[in-house]
Amino acid sequence: MSVYEDRVLTCPRCQDLSTQSVAVSLDGERAARQRQEILDGTFQRLTCAACGEVFVADGPLIYIDFDAKRWIGVFPSPWEVAWWDHEDEPQGAFQRYMLDHCPPLVRSWAPGFAVRAVFGIERLREKLVAHDAGIDDRVLEAYKLDLLRGLGPYDLGPSARPRLRSASATDAVFHVPRPAPDAPDRCAIVRIARAEIDRVATLRDGAWAATIEAVSAGPYVDLGRIFAPRPIAAAGCLATGEARQGLGDEWLPGTPRSRATRGRAARRTGSATRRGSSRASRWASRRSIPRRGPSGSRRPRHG
Ligand SMILES: [Zn+2]
Repeated sequence: MSVYEDRVLTCPRCQDLSTQSVAVSLDGERAARQRQEILDGTFQRLTCAACGEVFVADGPLIYIDFDAKRWIGVFPSPWEVAWWDHEDEPQGAFQRYMLDHCPPLVRSWAPGFAVRAVFGIERLREKLVAHDAGIDDRVLEAYKLDLLRGLGPYDLGPSARPRLRSASATDAVFHVPRPAPDAPDRCAIVRIARAEIDRVATLRDGAWAATIEAVSAGPYVDLGRIFAPRPIAAAGCLATGEARQGLGDEWLPGTPRSRATRGRAARRTGSATRRGSSRASRWASRRSIPRRGPSGSRRPRHG
């Protein structure tokens, strides 16, 4: 069962406040329409009534798929600058609602679940695309380093991270940010042979083991783990109050919620992110330096 609630969203351009019904939890197995919208890039794309700006309401929400055994906490993309404050929250929610406070039957479903934290709907989309194609997201994130290495000189910052857009048995397509002064959202579209990713999977216990471990040491399975590492001072800290507020209990499928909980949720100011605004965040402040055409089987074009 998917759960929706009214949240007060702020237009990222004119700061107009509006109350919108947005997803707090999605049951991926049953929410076929929402799943397709996520894949199509139309999920929770809203238009500001005051200024016409189109923006995305990108969480916090939880995406659960019992068939695929995915438990994914989705946070607003601007929160990624402090991913270490949020990544443990989906694991905590999983522990509470699949292990600690549930009947033995539910507990029996828990083994094998992959718990993830992502920032922004686009990153959720990438997880779904990878899973549908049978690509382990830990392998995928490690492979991206190899992909970037093959694309020539660049700044290895978070904003350079490729995004998997599609994958089949024979190939995979990535969008790789290549911003220009007049086109900050420009991406190279890079098609690779699927075998390149499968090669990393084959060596996951060998040459690629350390890299895979580095990008998947917690629920935030992402190159961001090594491009923007957890500060020493933050290591070992518990999630912040904001993170705990992010994935509370209101998303729990089928659970009657207390009046107090509903009231708290309704008062909460939701988060809305302009499409692509993650690239406008601090993470995007690093510029890609020289651009050089990639070689080999990678054929970029700019879109
Ligand atoms: Zn507006």
